Amino acid sequence: MSTATTPSPVRQLTPLSELRVLSVKQPWAWQIFHDGKDIENRLLPIGNYRGPVAIFAPAHPDVAALRQLPSSIRRERRFEVGAVIGVANLVDSHDASWCGADEYGNALRMCSPWALRGQQHLVLTDPIALREPVEARGRRGLWRVGPGLLGRILEQLG
Ligand SMILES: [Zn+2]
Repeated sequence: MSTATTPSPVRQLTPLSELRVLSVKQPWAWQIFHDGKDIENRLLPIGNYRGPVAIFAPAHPDVAALRQLPSSIRRERRFEVGAVIGVANLVDSHDASWCGADEYGNALRMCSPWALRGQQHLVLTDPIALREPVEARGRRGLWRVGPGLLGRILEQLG
């Protein structure tokens, strides 16, 4: 069960040189680092990669989700876009029908308050927000980090 995973430092899961990038729209990306969001919901499976992921916030936020945040948070916080804003461990990915199912396959509950029914749950642990967001160009899926971007991320994790 993914929620029982013992937290471990990002660098120890797999080498940070293997870092992949996961695009997560704001404000969901911010919530991974500042609001305890431990599940990223996806319609499609993400593949077999497990290990450190840089969280990239694409240029276009989820405007409806932003509007649902308390206005005090919207005023006081910066929701960086077009940048890598932090690093976390991707430790598991499973279908919603699995995470809360009993032995007969009946869905009982979700693995996290952030998990949505009918979606793939990407389980994220050990989030570390970067002090300075690193500008990047987004891509789809889990993409590999080029050496320049990797260096700018790693120098903030040292
Ligand atoms: Zn789940």
